[in-house]
Amino acid sequence: MLIRQNAFDGKERMLKGALHCHTTRSDGDGTPEEVIRLHVSKGYDFLAITDHRRYNYKNFAPETDITIIPGMEYDSTFERGLGFRCFHIVCLGPDDETNGFAQDQYFESGHSTCQEDFQPYLDWLHKNGQMTIYAHPEWSSTPTKYFDRLRGNFAMEVWNTGCAEEGNEDMNAPYWDEILGEGQPLFGVATDDGHPMRQHCRGWVMVRAKSRSVKDIFAALKEGAFYASTGPVIHDFYVEDGIAHIQCDPAAWIEFSSDMHPTRRIRSEEGKTITEASYDLSRYGGYRYVRASVVGENGLRAWTNPIFLPEYKELETACEDSFR
Ligand SMILES: [Zn+2]
Ligand SMILES: [Zn+2]
Repeated sequence: MLIRQNAFDGKERMLKGALHCHTTRSDGDGTPEEVIRLHVSKGYDFLAITDHRRYNYKNFAPETDITIIPGMEYDSTFERGLGFRCFHIVCLGPDDETNGFAQDQYFESGHSTCQEDFQPYLDWLHKNGQMTIYAHPEWSSTPTKYFDRLRGNFAMEVWNTGCAEEGNEDMNAPYWDEILGEGQPLFGVATDDGHPMRQHCRGWVMVRAKSRSVKDIFAALKEGAFYASTGPVIHDFYVEDGIAHIQCDPAAWIEFSSDMHPTRRIRSEEGKTITEASYDLSRYGGYRYVRASVVGENGLRAWTNPIFLPEYKELETACEDSFR
């Protein structure tokens, strides 16, 4: 049996996109024009300008050829006498009448004391047509137990340039395998969350979409037809007859991951770069999904989305997994 991860299951050109950035419309340093032009100069096909609680559809540099994905970042804080925790959600919306929000519409922060309290805000975003990303879990001080019962996010951030640069946080998919292991099939996105200009264009997604329209990019994101990167290029990722295979541009090493130990880091024995690796899932057995990361010689990383094996399902009770 062959299962190919959606990003690599077709011939469409991969589109490069940024899903989370800030401008002077909230607390970013660059004007929207500057931020858009910078992304165009770096070869981006699409960009969402996700200023805090201020909705945007507009291309502020209309002379440029880039698709603007409607969006904003919404937040809700919660204080329990334990210091600061918060939920930040990147919203991406359609560019037609199914989007319930208007250009420049402004929202106040929410307030919740736990994830159950926050769920109605999330439901409201979805009701207004938004696809949502759970942003920077480490920066928000929310380990898995604080967000693992939220419903309806399609992805979570596995890399956030701003958090990485400023606090060594959200750099390599913290909590992703725990969430996936619980049976929540969240995809992983790399974003910049750029505030100063230097933080833009360092984490992105490569999306296999039919065209550069918002509609096609949306459909591709929803199907997980993308991978996340801070540099490395991935060409293929599939499982055939119980063996996971990945192909990429020359890399220092490749890692396979799942929620179960052990998984592997694969390097060339001669210390040379490698362009492919495989991992026999039957070696230990019991895997329900597998994903892979590629690390370049410069230390930069890319992440595939998981391949969900036929055994994959949401765990209905904690007892279904005897290790929990
Ligand atoms: Zn944020
Ligand atoms: Zn942000």
